[in-house]
Amino acid sequence: AMFDGLSRSLEKAWDSVRRDGKLTAENVKEPMREIRRALLEADVSLPVVRRFVKKVEEAALGERVVKGLSPDQKLVKVVFEELKQLMGGQQAELVQPKYGPAVILMAGLQGTGKTTAAGKLALHLKKKGLKVLLVATDVYRPAAIDQLVTLGSRIEVPVFELGTEVKPPEIARQGLEKAKQEEYDAVIVDTAGRLQIDERLMDELRETKAAVNPTDTLLVVDAMTGQEAAGLVKAFNDAVDITGAVLTKMDGDSLDITGAVLTKMDGDSRGGAALSIKEVSGRPIKFVGTGEKMEALEPFYPERMASRILGMGDVVSLVEKAEDAIQAEEAAELTKKMMTAKFDFNDFLKQYKMVTGMGNLSSLVKMLPGMNKVNEKQLAEVERKYKTYESMIQSMTKQEREQPELLAKSPSRRRRIARGSGRTEEQVAELIGMFTSMRAQMQTLSRMMALSGGAQGVA
Ligand code: GDP
Repeated sequence: AMFDGLSRSLEKAWDSVRRDGKLTAENVKEPMREIRRALLEADVSLPVVRRFVKKVEEAALGERVVKGLSPDQKLVKVVFEELKQLMGGQQAELVQPKYGPAVILMAGLQGTGKTTAAGKLALHLKKKGLKVLLVATDVYRPAAIDQLVTLGSRIEVPVFELGTEVKPPEIARQGLEKAKQEEYDAVIVDTAGRLQIDERLMDELRETKAAVNPTDTLLVVDAMTGQEAAGLVKAFNDAVDITGAVLTKMDGDSLDITGAVLTKMDGDSRGGAALSIKEVSGRPIKFVGTGEKMEALEPFYPERMASRILGMGDVVSLVEKAEDAIQAEEAAELTKKMMTAKFDFNDFLKQYKMVTGMGNLSSLVKMLPGMNKVNEKQLAEVERKYKTYESMIQSMTKQEREQPELLAKSPSRRRRIARGSGRTEEQVAELIGMFTSMRAQMQTLSRMMALSGGAQGVA
């Protein structure tokens, strides 16, 4: 299927750094060559590939050292992030109308699957609970209107049409009028397909656009055409730029493409279109078609697509796991320190931050004296209490944090901390008491474990 070849050749890129300790300017050369070759083979255009490889290289070398990740995993992570960015980063949703129905103009060359995509999109929106109207304006291709009417009845979405004698902009205008009167949520206008970019039809498309002022103008492109698809999206935009940026703003009939629909993703195209469209045209892919059935349309998710390209199912979770591993390492480190008398207020704060950062206060709470059975309310109470502890620790001097026993001996120090943190002396005493008994308990635990021969199962 699509991207199989790409995934396979990227495998080689990871392999070439797997054995090394870290990524260096030297050892990324080989994987970069592999990545470059893989993308060109997938029919991504050369300038896009060049820019991409440069970004990956910079990010790979600049990336802070992540302990839990091996060099090949680190490279996977970087390539994943850059692929995601290349395809637009976030999912690009349809534009929400400020008032009235969403109006979506579908444009595209003949045979790309434009009419099918109009039907699929109608079904997609209908399933979301929207009241949808299809408008048939392709008066040139024989049977195009019948095709849409048939699709419409299959998915039970009404189709507005005026035959082939009325001009497309007029049909679109009347369709929108009907939609407004009957309170539709979305209008999808299927326009005339063309064999290639042709000025006369382009003008008509502009007129249709001006007639309905769409919220989205989607260009339907065929994934099988690879990097050509990207060029096409750009050409559609550029053709309009020829009318002039100034002019278009003056008369409000610019043909800005708000996004693309990439069809036939189910075929064995090589992936170049998906990878190039955003970068080449500046316009995101909003949907992909994945089959001939009406259900075969999906929103385009750059993140999922990047995962698929890397052939690793879910790279994100791989990276998250690595980051968890790092946290676990730090936690174990801290636990070790807790077992010794060296555990001080700095460690206490660090541990507190780590535990609350992980959203898992209960595991900390269970370590505290007399607190192994707690409910939600008690947890909130503990959390509040820790906030007061934090403020008091912040009022301590460096020396006091490192040598907690200083506080037990000195009422004047405790008074100063209370004033500095806006707490009472009783609260400061409570903190010290809690800390002391916690540390004592830790040391007892540690001695017990030393006796039983190990420190397992503590973190
Ligand atoms: P139009 O001329 O652009 O309106 O194209 P059509 O909507 O008539 O579609 C042309 C052909 O492509 C038809 O045979 C469709 O069934 C087929 N087609 C459309 N979308 C897809 C898709 O996502 N996957 C596949 N495999 N075929 C598709």
